[in-house]
Amino acid sequence: MNQPDMNNDIERVLYSEADIAKAAKRVGEQLAADYQGRTPIILSVLKGAVLWTVDVMRHMQYAEVEFIDVSSYNGGISSSGNVDLVTDLQTDINGRDIIIMEDIVDTGRSLKFMIELLKNRGAKSVKTASLLDKKDGRVVEATVDYVGFDVPKAFVVGYGLDYKQLYRNLPYVGVLKREVYDPQHADIVDTVDITPNH
Ligand code: 5GP
Ligand code: MG
Ligand code: MG
Repeated sequence: MNQPDMNNDIERVLYSEADIAKAAKRVGEQLAADYQGRTPIILSVLKGAVLWTVDVMRHMQYAEVEFIDVSSYNGGISSSGNVDLVTDLQTDINGRDIIIMEDIVDTGRSLKFMIELLKNRGAKSVKTASLLDKKDGRVVEATVDYVGFDVPKAFVVGYGLDYKQLYRNLPYVGVLKREVYDPQHADIVDTVDITPNH
């Protein structure tokens, strides 16, 4: 029987399952060292950061885990974006050390929004650990303190990252074939930005 296979939709693999496991260990052990003697709250950003969160936190010591969901969208024809709080976290973070776990930081808008929200609620400290840092995409200032990989400006999926809610369960991060999101122009080769709306 010919089963549909998600792997066939991937142009090339950027970070393999083994690469990611190594990065999760490196970041998790660094966090364990940096937060020694403290009990941080790991704030995982739904849904993309879930796989990264569980893999990193296995290498850490005492820590709580909470979830938040934000969505960023373009509010007009300009690049001015808005960010919405979709699902709030369920605990008082006043005086707490927070580690935001992200799948990818692109424009930086979501991250900046969350950092301001947490600081306004009295967080003692806020740091960010992101699987991917797309530095060339930055529109607002937002620093990632712990980075899995610096990723080039291309649209990637897998290991939490989706296209239309699919591909999150691929064990690696890869570039989607153009024909998957733009069947009319599958033959055009992109040189710079192949980011579909997300
Ligand atoms: P920003 O940093 O622009 O506020 O938004 C980050 C969000 O945009 C991510 O959490 C993710 O949902 C989405 N995003 C940005 N770049 C990519 C990408 O290359 N692939 C996927 N699947 N999502 C992306
Ligand atoms: Mg995200
Ligand atoms: Mg998405």
